[in-house]
Order: sequence, then structure tokens, then C-alpha cells
Amino acid sequence: MTTLATTDTPLVEVLDPGLAERITTAFGHRTVGDLLHTLPRRYRQHGQRYDKRQLVDGERVTVIGTVTTARTRTYHTKKGQPREMLTLTVEDGDMEFRVVFFAGRSIKYLLPVGTLAMFDGTVSHFRRAPDLKHPEFLVLRSVSGQSGQLKGSGDLAALARLAAEIDAEGGPSLFDRPLLPVYAAKEGVTSWDLLGAVVTALRALVPVVDPLDDTVRSAAGLMGLDEALRKAHLPENAREKDHAGHRLRFDEALALQLLLGARRRFVARDPAPASPVRDDGIRAAMGARMPFELTDGQKAVLEEISADLARDEPMNRLLQGEVGSGKTVVALLAMLQVLDAGRQCVMLAPTEVLAVQHHRSLTAMLGDLGERGRLGAADHATRVVLLTGSMSTAQRRAALLDIVTGEAGIVVGTHALIQDSVDFFDLGLVVVDEQHRFGVRQRDRLRSKGRAGMVPHLLVMTATPIPRTIAMTVFGDLEVSELEELPGGRRPISTSVVPARERPAWLVRAWERVREEVAAGHRTYVVCSRIDADDGKADDGAKGDDDEGGDRPPLVAAVDLHEYLSTGPLAGLRIGLLHGRLPSEEKDATMADFAAGHLDVLVSTTVIEVGVDVPEATVMVVMDAERFGVSQLHQLRGRVGRGGLPGLCLLVTNSRAGSRSMERLDAVAATSDGFALAQLDLVQRREGDILGDAQSGALSALRLLSVVDDGDVIEIARRHAEEILEADPGLHRHPALAERVRRLAGSEESDYLFRY
Ligand code: ADP
Ligand code: MG
Repeated sequence: MTTLATTDTPLVEVLDPGLAERITTAFGHRTVGDLLHTLPRRYRQHGQRYDKRQLVDGERVTVIGTVTTARTRTYHTKKGQPREMLTLTVEDGDMEFRVVFFAGRSIKYLLPVGTLAMFDGTVSHFRRAPDLKHPEFLVLRSVSGQSGQLKGSGDLAALARLAAEIDAEGGPSLFDRPLLPVYAAKEGVTSWDLLGAVVTALRALVPVVDPLDDTVRSAAGLMGLDEALRKAHLPENAREKDHAGHRLRFDEALALQLLLGARRRFVARDPAPASPVRDDGIRAAMGARMPFELTDGQKAVLEEISADLARDEPMNRLLQGEVGSGKTVVALLAMLQVLDAGRQCVMLAPTEVLAVQHHRSLTAMLGDLGERGRLGAADHATRVVLLTGSMSTAQRRAALLDIVTGEAGIVVGTHALIQDSVDFFDLGLVVVDEQHRFGVRQRDRLRSKGRAGMVPHLLVMTATPIPRTIAMTVFGDLEVSELEELPGGRRPISTSVVPARERPAWLVRAWERVREEVAAGHRTYVVCSRIDADDGKADDGAKGDDDEGGDRPPLVAAVDLHEYLSTGPLAGLRIGLLHGRLPSEEKDATMADFAAGHLDVLVSTTVIEVGVDVPEATVMVVMDAERFGVSQLHQLRGRVGRGGLPGLCLLVTNSRAGSRSMERLDAVAATSDGFALAQLDLVQRREGDILGDAQSGALSALRLLSVVDDGDVIEIARRHAEEILEADPGLHRHPALAERVRRLAGSEESDYLFRY
């Protein structure tokens, strides 16, 4: 074939049209570039070990191995016809697979003992051994040592032609390469279909133009793009394979960093409202009446923030600190500095319960400094206004009026604040609490509500520590401040795992412990992963688990547990119930009762996850704890022990000793270092989960780059992206890079980001 192709050439013009169509259906690939940017899942190398973690029931796998035993057994079909069932043992150098063909009469001649073959099928487990039932297969080396004539299942004609062509050219034959690429197959497309497609495409591919300048390329020590695309699929050795993969990941990292860099420049295009500290305003008045001294950490962070706010460049700061480290107080003082400059502040909370609570605690902290408009209010007093989705029309209208006239100095609310109908008089600072639930776009929508030509300052607060590479990738545009100590000599919470199935007596003891705490005047949270029996999905973010299987007891539902505890182990105590399906007045009332001490125990779903602050709460019991993510558990337990009393968290689980979920819970119990837990979480969860919805949009377009593993690549790419944007902010001299960024961001965003 003499077809020539570029990376933009449609697959149908290069491949057998039937194969091209199957690849498009299975993978969505349309062009040669799409195909080539999907790298092999692994490379077969002599004696290479199989990755056992991929051997999950139902998973599609490709196994390369030698047939070590072959047995046939005759059986009769329902219609009485005799059939031969062929059972093979295939040894891949590390482990054995059982391969079964129910109609194996002709296949047994193709796969005698000693044959080296590639099998592609769906894994199931039979008596603990992995097993493939009637997989597709391709003979790589027959017993006689013959190669050349391709045998196996599927339509091998095109592959056979290709292999013969390659042999005729006298190079190493297709299946005898030192590293044979093994592609992740999907329904209708085998690993060797993909191998044939990739080799065909590479043979047609004219040299690819490199979008990177030679200077960048040599400074970063990168392989050329053309070479990288070829060597990533057909490397001669491991070094080449790594080098090629590195180049392709760098390209993705660079496109991502160009996007983030452009966003950063876009936000900084307009000045921010400069708000210098005043010593005669509301911030000074609040400082004078603080019930406690700020910790050194709080002072240092506040100083950084104050300096940022005083400038007319928009602040972009992430304030990271353990639950209970005193972020809210810092945010309040920052907001008061902005009020002193005559501007408004908004605080965005991820849930209604939290917004209500922030509103309540800010109002309480301010005292008469928050009673503007009332008789006897202090000088410089302001007003804190709440805006949530569940407010009545009249309440909402009143709030909107206070916001637009500037009567409201501080506005606290939920997503409802992002709506178009909310106009500010003069917005100077946006505070986003628990950032991981909001995306970049939402945050930018709020920031567009400043005065024309002005960009409000931004302070994002999170209790979930964000590993550096993530901070750099997703929040690449934020400076980071950290609060490390807990104020008020507070001690970390002690955590124990309660294996309810293996040690039922421990659970009995746990409920006794709750009674003792209540007797001492303390309160307890009991957290469930779901609301009731119909609640198929967890209420709010609890996650499933995959390593249990078998006779799993039903999950504990909040409604049932509330009933059970009230009439059983905790009978006589005052027990409240809180979950996301209750009307919001009821939720607020229950939360307020618990805070005020009218309830001893609160059975709830994860609606209490973030920011809830009840100083007398000392115990948290988490049911079905294995359903929750590591960081989520860490957040949850931060709800107790906030008032100087020692906190206790009990993780109740039916997981068995030695299981993966038990290991995870043990890790949570063993460390109070949120940072270490965030790392642990990261390796166990899909990145998108951690990064939030809006961010994962661009990130899901990344095929090769891993935010977890490629921190070094990301860091180098970030430097180069900065240099490129510095010299060429509109990317006019880098059309190929501009195109890559456009693919990542979508054309609409690229249009405004790069119009220089
Ligand atoms: P975060 O938002 O970081 O979880 P908060 O700001 O809600 O933490 O603070 C947790 C608790 O600690 C609150 O009750 C707050 O009043 C109290 N607190 C904050 N800073 C100090 C401090 N410097 N000294 C004593 N208590 C403090
Ligand atoms: Mg908080």
C-alpha cells in the first residue's frame, strides 16, 4: 500500500474500512493521530510479570504465554450433539491461566502444548485461578518453530498481509520484536487488530512536524515528536520506550500548562480593588474584641493575605489547613479588611447547612459589629446576609436588594449566588469554602460580578490537603498558604476501627461508650452512607468498594439506624436524624438543636461533612466506614473534638481483616496527617474524583499524563509554558501548540483566552 498519511488523516483512508469502523465504535478514534496517541497497555518482554491487579472479573485482558497442558473432554449439547471441550493451561512466565474453548475440536490442532500464543478475552475466576473462556487467540510461535503463516481467531487476513510485507522487507518480523506492544482491547477489536492498525498507520505516516522549537526540545531533553510516536509503539528497548512516552506526556503537560497560564493571565488582565489595612475600621474593632489570640500560623497567613488585598492585582490564594485549624476566623478578618475599603465580600459554601452555619457563626463573632441598620449598632457595623436556593421569594428579594444596594457587607450563600440575577454593589473579595466542590468556571463566574473593569480578590479555603502536583495542575493559578497547627492546644482525634462482623462485642462497647460521653455532657455524631433502604446510591459522595464480594451484609441506613438506636442500645437518649432529603427548615432546626444541646446524638448522612462546628461533640461513629474515601473520613472526624475536649472516632466496618478496605481504614486510624492520607487517597481513587467536576473536564482529555505520577514532567512543562506565553501570549508563532490547547479547552474558551 502506498497511502500517505498525517496525524489528521481519517482512519478509514489508511486502514481496512471495516477495521477503522470497529476502532471508531470501540474507542472513538477517528484520525491517525487519535490512534497513535493511545499507547500500548504494556509491552511483552521475555519473562515479564503480569500485573495481577488488572485481573478482575469482567476485565478484558490480553495474555501472552506458552501452552503447558491441553485436555479435551467430549460432552453432549442439549440437542445431543457431541462436542469437544478444550481446556488449556497457559503459563505467562509468572502465573498460570486456564483457557477454555467449548467447541475446541479444530482449535486443539492450532494450540498444542508448547505453542506461544496471545489470548484476548474476559477474565473470570474459577476456584481462585484466573480463567478465560473462548478468548480470541493468535499463534505467535508454533511448536515447529514456524512463523510466517498466521493462525488464530478473528479476521487475520489484513494482519497476515502486513506481517508478510514486513518480512519481505527483511527487517525483524512483526511478532519477534524485542518488545511486543500489547494494546488494551475492547469489544470487537482485539489487541492484534490494534497492533496491525498501528503498524499500518505508522508505515503510512509522513514525518510529523514537531510543534516544539528545537530550543525547548533540547533544553528539556526531549525526543522529537515523529520519533516519539514511532518508538512509543515499536521500541527497540526499554530506554527508547520510556524516552518516547516521556515526550508524549510532556506534550500533554505543556498543553495543560499553556491553558492554565493563559487563564491566569486572563484573570489578571484587570486590576483588583486595592484594600489596604486601616487601623480605625471594622477590622481593627473586631481585632480588639477577639475572644482568643490568633495562633502564630494564623497571624502569618493573615499577613500574607492582607498584603495581597492591599495591592491592585487580583489575589489568587489557596488557604489550606486541617479541619479546625481556624481558617474561618482568618477569612473573617480578611473580609473585614475589604469592608474597610468600602467593598463587599461573598462567602460561598458547598451546602445549605454549611452556608446557614457560616452565616450564624459570622454573625455571632461580629456581635454588634454585624448589626448595621439596627439601633445601638457599633460604628463601622456591617450586615451579614444569607442567600440560598431554598429561601422564599420574598426573603430572596429582600436579600438581593441588600446585596445590590451595598447594605449587605458580607453575603454568605450556596450555588444560588452564582446565578445571573445576583448583582453586587461593589464586590471586592470572593471567599470559597471547601474548594474541591466547586470548579474553576463557577469560581470565575462569581469573580465576574465585580465592578466593570475590576476583578475581585479570591481566597479559596480547603481542609483537604492537596498534593503539590495537583495544586500546580488544577489550581496552577493559586498561591498556597498553609495553617499547620491546631489552635487552643487541641489534640488530634484518636481513631479506632470496629470490625463489626468479626468482633460484634466491640460494637456493643461502642454504643456504651456513646452513653458514657452523653452522661458526661458530650454529644455524638453517627454517620451512615445512605438514607434508607430505597436509597440505592449513597447520599453524598460515599464510595463503593470492590474487594469484598460474597455475602456482604446490607448497608446501614440512617433512617433504620435512628429507629434501632432509639429503641435499642441508646434508648432514652435524645436522638436526631439529619439527611439530604429532609426539607431544609427541618435540617436547620435539627442542626440547631444538636448545636444547642437539645439533642445528644445525631444520626446523619454526610451532609455534616464539612465545616460543621459543635464544640461539645466528642465522638463520631461512622457506619460502613469502608464506603467512604480516605480524605472524606479524615474530614468527617474533624467534626469532633473541636472544643478542647479529646475527640474519638470509631470506624465501624464489616470488612475482613487483611482486605484492602481494612488496610485503608487502618491507615486512617493510624495517622492524623491529612497530607499523608490525601496521597493515599490519590493512589486509590480516580483522579477526576479528587479534582472535582469542572476541572476533570480538561483533565479527562489527557490520555497519557497522570497527575499522580508525572509531577516532574508537569513541573518542567510549566516552566516552558511560562516562557512561551511570555514571548507569545496569543500563541501566534506556535500554531500547532495553539491547536493542542484548543482541543483541551474547547474552542470557545481558547478564543477569549488567546485573543492577543
Ligand atoms: P476551620 O474552618 O479551619 O475548620 P474554624 O475557623 O472553624 O476552623 O475554627 C475551629 C474552632 O476553633 C472554632 O470554634 C474557632 O472559634 C476556634 N478558633 C479559631 N482560632 C482560634 C484560636 N487562635 N484560638 C482558639 N480558638 C480558635
Ligand atoms: Mg471551616
